[in-house]
Amino acid sequence: MPTLAWLGLGLMGNPMSKHLIKAGYTVRGYDIDAGACERAAANGVKVAKTIAEAVADADVVYSMLPSGSDVHDVMTRADGVFASARKGTMVIDCSTIGIDYARKLHVAADAKGVVFVEAPVSGGTEGARDATLTFMIGCEQKHASKAKEMLQPLGDYIAYVGGAGTGQAAKVVNNLIMGVSVTVNCEATALGQRLGLDMKEFFEIATRSSADNWSLRLWNPAPNVVPDAPSSRGYAAGFKTWLLAKDLHLAIEAGKEVGAELRTAEIAHQLMTEHSDTGGHDLDATSLVLHLNGGKK
Ligand code: NAD
Repeated sequence: MPTLAWLGLGLMGNPMSKHLIKAGYTVRGYDIDAGACERAAANGVKVAKTIAEAVADADVVYSMLPSGSDVHDVMTRADGVFASARKGTMVIDCSTIGIDYARKLHVAADAKGVVFVEAPVSGGTEGARDATLTFMIGCEQKHASKAKEMLQPLGDYIAYVGGAGTGQAAKVVNNLIMGVSVTVNCEATALGQRLGLDMKEFFEIATRSSADNWSLRLWNPAPNVVPDAPSSRGYAAGFKTWLLAKDLHLAIEAGKEVGAELRTAEIAHQLMTEHSDTGGHDLDATSLVLHLNGGKK
């Protein structure tokens, strides 16, 4: 069985790497955060002290890191993945990094004889936990079937979108919809609360009505409406506010490149950034409702 490496053992990387262990693989993991390493070790991940140690014997390297600059650094620095992996190793990055970083990384990997596959995901920590993620693969077509096979234990819909940048393009468009939905769900919740609605009853109404949407059902911003939602555990992430702001920014940047006007995304990005900069950074993005209600402190 191939040996695998997993870089970035956070809210998504932890449950995802755990499924590979359950599928029978040996997984060497690496994270800069000691707590993340400890939690992964408890799942059976063999924790490495350096990137080079994690990837040296790996046939496939996965990464699930916060942003494009993190992934670019981990992949391309002198002691990073591309310099340390064996020639021909497949590197599957599942992070949301945007189209430009993805394109750059395909070129840089190629120069080092490594196969880069972008495979951003949708489905949240719930999808990571249940292995029901949707993957959006961008790579050379000849590598798509191996990439799909290696992602099989983690998801239930694995799409080959096309060449370099296309997986990230699909993810950026998806998260434009999701990011704006989360923002308006928070605004609607703040309004409902101020109007004195019973938010549990409103949830029953809305999820049977024209307001229904995925993030309203899974990540309802009102506490104790959806037991598993971040709002019901003090807004512990989930999907961190700064990561949602990052994704909205990626959409806005992509829009500028092709001349698409994204005015609702700009307002959502402004609100999420404001909340992130005033204490909401690592809280779940649905804690925007606290910011809107002026009740963060
Ligand atoms: P997270 O912050 O929980 O985890 C990221 C991990 O990467 C952390 O443990 C951090 O210590 C580690 N890390 C950061 N820099 C590193 C480095 N240089 N070397 C090694 N490890 C490093 O974030 P997350 O929620 O797991 O998100 C990861 C990616 O997945 C992001 O791109 C995010 O946009 C995307 N994503 C998240 C969700 C979600 O619901 N949380 C859903 C879909 C996609």
